[in-house]
Amino acid sequence: MQFFDSHAHLTEDDYDNIDEVIDRAKKANITKIINICTNRASLERGFELSKKYDFIHIAASTIPQDADNANDIFFETVKKAAEDKKLIAIGESGLDYFYGLEKKEFQKLFFNNYFTLAKDLKLPLIIHARDAYVDILQIANDFKYPKAILHCFTGNEAQAKEVLDQGWNISFSGIVTFKNSQDLRDIVKIVPLDRILIETDSPLLAPQSKRGTKNEPANVIEVAQIIAEIKNVSLEEIAKITFDNASKIFFS
Ligand SMILES: [Zn+2]
Repeated sequence: MQFFDSHAHLTEDDYDNIDEVIDRAKKANITKIINICTNRASLERGFELSKKYDFIHIAASTIPQDADNANDIFFETVKKAAEDKKLIAIGESGLDYFYGLEKKEFQKLFFNNYFTLAKDLKLPLIIHARDAYVDILQIANDFKYPKAILHCFTGNEAQAKEVLDQGWNISFSGIVTFKNSQDLRDIVKIVPLDRILIETDSPLLAPQSKRGTKNEPANVIEVAQIIAEIKNVSLEEIAKITFDNASKIFFS
């Protein structure tokens, strides 16, 4: 049994000893990790990390919360790296109206640019959406690009259906394990198994049994476990299907 953590931030300066974190991931059979890099320094460290550990792959973009003005200082770096095939995905890009409502227009501008880049280069797009599903889906309708993942999904049933209608995958994080997340667990029931990915969003969102600690890829198993329970299938089956789903979107 092996697991695919489709979204973790490993090189944004959160870990004292990243080799230990990766060692624990290996021991837990997390055999693929997508490392999300949201600035130049993180991306540079990301390249080093991927050189050392070939099962760690890189996605990059500015995060919506950092869209402070019209100038995206990271964009050209991301574009070049993507063209040089040093990235396997673009993201996380999107809209966050919980943290950045006042920067709505800049966020939209950045999101459009990364969406265009992903589509031009036929790379998967990892989308961050918080309190912004209406606008996200409106922009999505302009692009009509199914090769995308709505990461850390926390929307409602209608939004989940619209996301699925775009052809996108839905990724669930440790939030689905939280005691007060019954609504989200109900959403898991309606998302087809062949469209589900799992993630940690490390170092944030440690699952229920580890709440209050720094999250890390080894904990993705707890997300898999709860999805297995909800879907009433074995952990082996969820491990395999989420691994296959992620492999399909990131590597084919
Ligand atoms: Zn993230």
